[in-house]
Amino acid sequence: MAATPVQVAVLDDYQGIATPKFAHLVDQGKISVTYFPNTLNVRNADEREAQIKRLQPFEILSTMRERSLFNADILGSLPNLKVLLTTGARNFAIDHEFAATKGIVVAGTQRTSEAANGPDPTTQQTWALILGLAKHIAREDNALKTDKSYWQGQDLAISLPGKTLGLLGLGRLGQASAKIAILAFGMKVVAWSSSLTQEKADAAAAEIGLPAGSIRVAASKLDLLREADVVSLHYVLSERSRGLVGKEELAAMKPSALLINTSRGPLVDEAALFETLKAGKIRGAAIDVFDIEPLPADSPWRTTEWGKNGRSEVLLSPHMGYAVEDYIGSLYDQVVENLERHLAGQELLLEMAEQTIPQMRGLPLALHGTIIHTLDASTLEILQDCLLIIDSDGKIEKIFKDTPADKVNACISQAGHSPDVFPVKYLRRGEFLIPGFIDTHYHAPQYAQRGLGRDQTLLEWLENVTFAHERKFEDVAYAKRMYTACVQAGIKQGVTTASYYGSVHVEATKILAETCLEQRQRAFVGKCNMNRSSPEWYRDVSAEESLKETRELVAHVRSIDSEGKLVKPILTPRFAITCDDTLLSGLGRIVDETPDIHVQTHFNEAVDEMEYTRQLYPQFQHEADLYDEFGLLGPQTILAHSIFLKEEEMDRIKAKGCGIAHCPISTATLGEFMMAPIREYLRRGIKVGLGTDVGGGFSSSMLDIMRHAFIISKARETFTKGADPALKLNEGFFLATLGGAQVCGIHDKVGNFIEGKEFDALEIHTIGSEPCGSLGVMSPIEDEDSIEAIFEKFLMTGDDRNIAKVYIAGQSVKETA
Ligand SMILES: [Zn+2]
Repeated sequence: MAATPVQVAVLDDYQGIATPKFAHLVDQGKISVTYFPNTLNVRNADEREAQIKRLQPFEILSTMRERSLFNADILGSLPNLKVLLTTGARNFAIDHEFAATKGIVVAGTQRTSEAANGPDPTTQQTWALILGLAKHIAREDNALKTDKSYWQGQDLAISLPGKTLGLLGLGRLGQASAKIAILAFGMKVVAWSSSLTQEKADAAAAEIGLPAGSIRVAASKLDLLREADVVSLHYVLSERSRGLVGKEELAAMKPSALLINTSRGPLVDEAALFETLKAGKIRGAAIDVFDIEPLPADSPWRTTEWGKNGRSEVLLSPHMGYAVEDYIGSLYDQVVENLERHLAGQELLLEMAEQTIPQMRGLPLALHGTIIHTLDASTLEILQDCLLIIDSDGKIEKIFKDTPADKVNACISQAGHSPDVFPVKYLRRGEFLIPGFIDTHYHAPQYAQRGLGRDQTLLEWLENVTFAHERKFEDVAYAKRMYTACVQAGIKQGVTTASYYGSVHVEATKILAETCLEQRQRAFVGKCNMNRSSPEWYRDVSAEESLKETRELVAHVRSIDSEGKLVKPILTPRFAITCDDTLLSGLGRIVDETPDIHVQTHFNEAVDEMEYTRQLYPQFQHEADLYDEFGLLGPQTILAHSIFLKEEEMDRIKAKGCGIAHCPISTATLGEFMMAPIREYLRRGIKVGLGTDVGGGFSSSMLDIMRHAFIISKARETFTKGADPALKLNEGFFLATLGGAQVCGIHDKVGNFIEGKEFDALEIHTIGSEPCGSLGVMSPIEDEDSIEAIFEKFLMTGDDRNIAKVYIAGQSVKETA
């Protein structure tokens, strides 16, 4: 019995060119083909649904250029799709990254050698339009056929020889038109683009066999427009080139000039062009490309009586530039060849690997779907159908709330961008964005010792486990290796900002700062200061040396990230026990000299630690007094742990604006079970964030930390007989995000989704293809689950497998591999 034919759908083949190309495979019973010549706009909800419904059965799709959009939403809704065959070498309408994660193979086509002989189809269209407009072909044809007495209109044709062709853009297509203008029509050619130099124009002339100087570079775009008799666009459409020809440019053109656009619609401000032509300010325009294609039925381009009553002459064609029989036929030959290869189990030609497509980096980005964030400790906001536009600097440019998918294009236009080139990522049910996690307390050199040291007190654990591990960082090669792993793990788990303690070693700590910058993790990096109360083999040689190295590290961090965009220095006295007063007062002097510098230390962390501190510094009433006296308390100070604060200490740190790094795992599992009075701090308006305290804390996951914070707060509620109620879900989430940003003093930059803030975000995916729809091991999402339930399930049972993407300052940084 013959195998069942493979189901193939051919989309967007308006002229039915593909039918004979696929016929032999149909005859052989290898495939069955269904044709869908009409293009659906999937940004319209009904058409999206129709597209998914009609394409769902197919294993193979053949699509024409960028006519149909295949974003993650559509690709993710086509369970049988294995191969997507498109035409062209690139296709920006396909989410290649998502296709790769789904194992969908995408392959394209290349220009064939026959097509390379002579002008390409688009250049032929350009000249058909130039000549058609100059010779009034369409107008005269129409007049002859509709008016029986007609013979020659008022306007004579325009002669091209000796006239100037102005080319906006001198790439492959611009060059081809320059060659025709010069050789076939004896025109002069002047060109301009934002990066064009005379040297490049001479090289372009040489490529088409013409002497240097044949193509002259205009001093400016406006100069070109003032001079040219015929202006033709040959520019790549991008966010930057959108509106290349606007009101001002059109006003600069000669009244006798012609404008030709066979490139892309949005390169010209369509409304301004319409007004210019309606007022007859230039002689004519020929247009093959439009903002919205197909051109809507009610478009005034279709209905205006052009060339009459003072209006300019206008010649239109329906994006026919590349739509040439031979050319489209040759594209389908290649599509069919790839299809045959697939059926024979061979590798496809011209596979579009994700890396061959320009990355999103540095490009603006938009995301549509659900965002969840906090506005303060008690306000959680869940916004569904939200459109976020991220600018090319990684800042949140605009947030449109309550925006259904079919309104996305209108919003993108409203924000001043071109919907047809703007990359929009659609999040589906079970997917949402949350702000990146902020870990306010992390010992980077303890990354490899997590989990060790049960049944020891804090001071024993330092001596027996920690110092031996931190000592290893005198070896810079080891430091590089371990810090790379440590920062990678943080990003993988969604930590977009971390406040790091380094080891005592200045070189290793420089490597830590460089590693954060390389991997683009936002970080505070400090060299640990300790010149006593630790083994001889692990301490600063003197207070002076410790201070000198601290200054060296601060200078280094500022040299590698001069504007402090991602990585900043932080003074890091381990705690008073390991720092004598020369060292602490020296650090206080650095704070004095550099008021914007951050400080972090351990604070009222354990009973034995507090007792020992009192013995070493008997002159101070408490630790707040001690650190304040040395000038180390301020709004940029992060105090880790803060378990046993006296009333007066709470008043002092509140007055000084210090933040607390609450580390519920380490303080409950190392030595004894301790519960920081977080409810009391929140009640008093003291800033609180969460810290993993790696490696005193065994987990580097902020999700684990949130869960432990809930447990500890529950214990505290019981212990205080309800006086300190346990943390609510939204409060724990606040502490891990915006609360942490406040503690680090970067809440005006990150921590939640507010226009103008930087886009540090996690894209959470909760529904997978596993049985019961779970992704990883988190609680399965059931049909009846609300977004609130999905969010709670993620916070309480999700892990790094659910953190599909991590964005820091708008860039995607988590490797999906
Ligand atoms: Zn610590």
